[in-house]
Amino acid sequence: MNVRDLLREGTIFLRERGSPSARLDAELLLAHCLGQRRVDLYTHPQREPGPQERQAYRSLLERRARQEPVSYLLGRKEFYGLSFLVDERVLIPRPETEVLVELTLERARGRRWRGLRLADVGTGSGCIAVALARHLPQARVYATDISAAALALALENCRRHGVEERVALLLGDLCEPLPEVVDLLLCNPPYTVWGSLPGGIRDYEPRLALDGGPDGLAFYRRLLQQLPGRLSPGGSALLELGDNQAESVLDLFRAGLPGVPLQTWPDVAGLPRVLEIGPL
Ligand code: GLN
Repeated sequence: MNVRDLLREGTIFLRERGSPSARLDAELLLAHCLGQRRVDLYTHPQREPGPQERQAYRSLLERRARQEPVSYLLGRKEFYGLSFLVDERVLIPRPETEVLVELTLERARGRRWRGLRLADVGTGSGCIAVALARHLPQARVYATDISAAALALALENCRRHGVEERVALLLGDLCEPLPEVVDLLLCNPPYTVWGSLPGGIRDYEPRLALDGGPDGLAFYRRLLQQLPGRLSPGGSALLELGDNQAESVLDLFRAGLPGVPLQTWPDVAGLPRVLEIGPL
């Protein structure tokens, strides 16, 4: 069987098992097994993969049919133009989180900070911290996580992108491990209602990174408690919001931090995705 046949067969197999992106999945998995780029499948459709390559492809197709995320099968996910290692220790970076990086970069560049300090609270794979460190060569970045397993992977990602000297990985709960005030504090907290997530997420991605309690807001309440005293004068916090959470989270912070400026910012789909608290 050549590449074209394998793609056709894999696509049908995944489509019959309910994958909404069967063709794309098959392409990504086959290219991965052949050590090629996706485009190479189309420039060399007659290539005949060997038995080991075919076997590897079949086994990934089987796993994908059980709804395992493609990013875990490939062991990698793109975020903000960078490739990150991912596995079941960490949440897979989502494209909507890129707006958090974008807003942070604007604020970091818009002022003359003296030795800019950033914190990424609940860093997971480290994608936010690493993207920021790459784009802000002067910045010192703290990245916290309560999962030692996640931090081990975040360290690999820091090394992969050459920022391990400037990203301090700290084990602990949310803001608690931060050793000093920071100018910009970012957080993509767990904000989903666990029971409402599709099986493909619930069976594979870490609950610790996703479960925001019965109403999805548990971590905003905890951040509200922990934020005071963490930001420098003129500093801000930027928190990612789940779908339809903007009003409730705004109410929470309005009541808890009276007089502090609050603003929401949309993602590329136009949905309110980030809450900015400050500048203080
Ligand atoms: N955006 C993720 C999802 O909807 C959730 C990430 C999070 O809880 N912060 O699956």
